[in-house]
Parts: sequence; C-alpha cells; structure tokens
Amino acid sequence: MEVTPCPNPKPHFVVIPWPVTSHMIPMVDIGCLLAAHGAPVTIITPPSSAQLVQSRVDRARAGHGRSAGISITVTALPFPGAEAGLPEGCERLDHVPSVDLVPNFFDANAQFGDAVARHCRRLLTHRRPSCIVAGMCNTWAHGVACELGAPCFIFHGFGAFALLCCEYLNTHKPHEGKSLDELIDVPVLPPPFEFKFARRQLPLQFLPSCSIPEHRLRELREFEMAVDGIVVNSFEELEHDSAACLAAATGKTVLAVGPVSLCGGGARAPPSLLDFWAASSVDDDSRRCMAWLDAKKAESSSSVLYVSFGSAGRMPPAQLMQLGRALVSCSWPVLWVIKGADTLPDDVSEWLQCNTDGGDGQCLAVRGWAPQVAILEHPAVGGFLTHCGWGSTLESVAAGVPMATWPFSAEQFLNEKLIVGVLGIGVSVGVTKPTEGVLTGAKDGGGAGKAKADVSMEQVKRALDMLMDGGADGEARRTKATELKAKAKSALEHGGSSYMNLEKLIQFAA
Ligand code: UDP
Repeated sequence: MEVTPCPNPKPHFVVIPWPVTSHMIPMVDIGCLLAAHGAPVTIITPPSSAQLVQSRVDRARAGHGRSAGISITVTALPFPGAEAGLPEGCERLDHVPSVDLVPNFFDANAQFGDAVARHCRRLLTHRRPSCIVAGMCNTWAHGVACELGAPCFIFHGFGAFALLCCEYLNTHKPHEGKSLDELIDVPVLPPPFEFKFARRQLPLQFLPSCSIPEHRLRELREFEMAVDGIVVNSFEELEHDSAACLAAATGKTVLAVGPVSLCGGGARAPPSLLDFWAASSVDDDSRRCMAWLDAKKAESSSSVLYVSFGSAGRMPPAQLMQLGRALVSCSWPVLWVIKGADTLPDDVSEWLQCNTDGGDGQCLAVRGWAPQVAILEHPAVGGFLTHCGWGSTLESVAAGVPMATWPFSAEQFLNEKLIVGVLGIGVSVGVTKPTEGVLTGAKDGGGAGKAKADVSMEQVKRALDMLMDGGADGEARRTKATELKAKAKSALEHGGSSYMNLEKLIQFAA
C-alpha cells in the first residue's frame, strides 16, 4: 500500500470503547471532542454498533461551526461472539442474555483485541496512531499501544471520586475479610467529608462473588496500572479535587474532559438522541415524550419529575409496583422510562397500561429508549430520580437538574455519596442494598422476578416530595445545581478546565 504523508500536524487518536452502550456513548463523545480540537480520530467498534457510533459522529459533524470540519473515521471490525459461545449478533455486554455468559463476552472481546491489533498495524502505513484511548476492559489495548510506540489512556466510565475510592480499596484492601453488611471507611477526601459504605455497596470487583472471572479482574487491574493516563468524563470544578488526588494516588496523568454530553453542540438540540438511535423503533415513543414535555412546559416550567435507571437498569416486578404506586400518587407530572417492560408479569403490565399512559397528564411511561440528554435539558423537567450511573449523573449536572438517588450497583453507591453528601444536589431515597437483575437481555429479568420489594412506596414518596419541593433545602439544592450547570458549560468553553485538558491530551500524544 502506498504511504501518504499525513497532512494533519495534530496526533491521530484511536478510540476503542468497551462495548457496552453506556460506555460507547461518552467514548464517542470524547472522540468528537478531540476531533473538534483538530485531532484526527478513528473509532473502532464491533459491526452491530457501527451505525450507532456513525450517527452520533454525523450529528457532531453537522453541529455548530467548530465541529463542522472534524475528521473522524468509524471502523467496524468483526466481533467473534458466536465463536465464544454468545448468541448471534450479541456484541454489547448489556445485550448478553444471562450473567453466565459474561465470561464468554470477555473471551470474545479478547479476540476482538487481536483484530484491533491487526488493524492498527495496517494503520501504520498511512495514518500512524499517536495515542490510544481504550475502554476499561479492553486490556489488550496497552500491548497494542506499546507495539505502535504510542501512549495509552484508559476510560473507565466512572467519575474521578469513584475512581479515587476504587484506588483506595485496591491499595488498602479494607473490604477484605469483611461481611457484606460491615461498614468500610473510605477516607479519600479531607474532613469534613467522611465516607462509609457497606461492603455490598462497593463496585463488583470488591464483592466476594463477581460475574467477571478472577483472571479477567487481574488483567483489568494490570491494565489500569500499566496505562499512561486516565481520561475522565467530568470537570475539575465538580469533584472536590478528586482528579488531582487520583493523579497523586496512581502517579498517572488524570484528565477530566467533560461533561462530554455537551460535545459539539449536537446533544443540546432536542432531537439529538433521536438521531443517535435513528434506526430503532423507539422514535415514535421519543417524539411522544418530547411533545408531552412541551405541553407540560406550557403549564409550568421545572414541574416534571424524570425517572430513569440507565441503559439497562430494571428492578424486580414487586419493587417496580412500589415505585409505580409512588409515582402515580405524585402531585406533579412524571416521565418514567422503564427497561425490560416486555418481560414483566401480565398483572404488572396491565397496571402500567392503566396508570401510566400520560392521558390525564400525570404519569407517562416510556418503554424502551428515551432521549435522556434532551429530556434533562427540557425546561419542563425539575427533578431526576436516577440510579446514579455516572453518565446520568453528569448529564443531570450539565442540565442543572437536582436528583433523587436510588443506586442499583457498580459504583453507583459511591456516586450517590458525591451527589448528596459532597455536592448537595440530591436527596437519597435511602436504598441500602444493590438491585439484582440488571441485564436487559435476560429473559427472566436475571432472576430478579422472584425478589421482593426492599423499598416501600412511602419511602420513595418521601424522597420525591423533598426533591420536588423541599422548602429552603430544596431551593438550596436547585441553586447549587444551577451553579454547577454554569461551571460545566464553562469547563468546555475555550480556556475552561476541560478544554485545556483536551489540549493537554493532544500535546501528550504529539
Ligand atoms: N440513556 C438514554 N436513554 C435511555 C437510557 C439511558 O439516553 O433510555 C443514556 C443516558 O443518557 C446515559 C447512558 O445511557 O448516557 C446511561 O449511562 P449511565 O452511566 O447513567 O448508566 P448505565 O447504563 O451504565 O447503568
């Protein structure tokens, strides 16, 4: 093949998302931001996610002026799922139909790494990769980067505070030998902050039983220790020096470059995620919920409660009913996104049908995918009941919307402490145990069908009343959320902290 000299003086980034929906979204946005700063970017993805990635890139490219000339190539490489025993077309972790197949997904992803390595060698001949930004479980990326002589950055999908807690747990191991109920001190920020978690509230890798095989967890840790730096979807003004503390604790460059949902102007226009999911059948639903929000805004702004538990979060039917009863008894309108609605028992489905059609205006349920960024930015929305996934948390911060917190699993209990205890922009529902059964692909709800409700309707209602009204405390939360929204926007503007960190990343790779 003929070698064409690269006319672009900026380094070429290869972005390789860990194939999970909620990681692909911010990693594609990071690619778009780097490209908006003038660096050429290649995003590598399994084939079934290529359209999803491409449409998000197209959106950024078509966005406002600075992004118009961006150079991003989307490359689809075969993902050997079937060879590893996964169902045909299963190329994202959140589509795996059972937790028993999680190890197979890791095996398939390891082979995907071989295909990525071969592709990167081919890239050497015309557009040499200068830096790899890899998703947290793409552990082979460090080897690929070494072979290319390029630096490698990791993207975990977690915020800096949660990563700092994980680093503390990895280094000091206070959880080892503890029962699931025992409280563990995680003193990562100076007083007056104090963080205690029951072991069961820690991320998966710190629990005695974990669906990820031991040798894969070891690889993950080795990978994060080997990389040159950490890219975080956050901004320095948000997490009380967590990014700097993380840099000190790990000895690595830590670059907060978010909130990436504000990238390229694309996500700010209402139909952004409608385009993102253009090929899917949820469009009608999404249009319906945006129209419903428009009507609510005409009645009163900031009056709607938005309820969603991430890309895959689902709760046992008994728990869903307690939540549902709380939501339909609210005195403000509710927009409720329900995942896995097709696997609910008939009586629950019928109840939902009768009570959540948005008809008399109080509660509208969306079954499937909702355009979350656009919803949070809609002026009708005044509060967000969230599972505290980091993507959702940051999108809520970027939109200036206070939260009620209902962590499910992973690092979400850590995020809850940040939202409620540190930032003062949330009300805790008071959930103490992780919610089981979060795989969207699981036909039986991942075994969650038999579980009982841990959180009562009254408990949910109390937190929501505080969130949506809350008197002086509620007002203080709303003020802080509005201040953080302004800081989030400034961080990405010319000269802002995230803007400068993107420039640092580009300089690091040059
Ligand atoms: N999301 C969305 N529509 C949905 C559900 C989720 O757009 O119906 C997006 C949301 O905006 C966020 C991501 O999916 O970017 C969820 O990521 P998060 O880290 O909050 O949670 P996870 O899915 O990892 O539990």
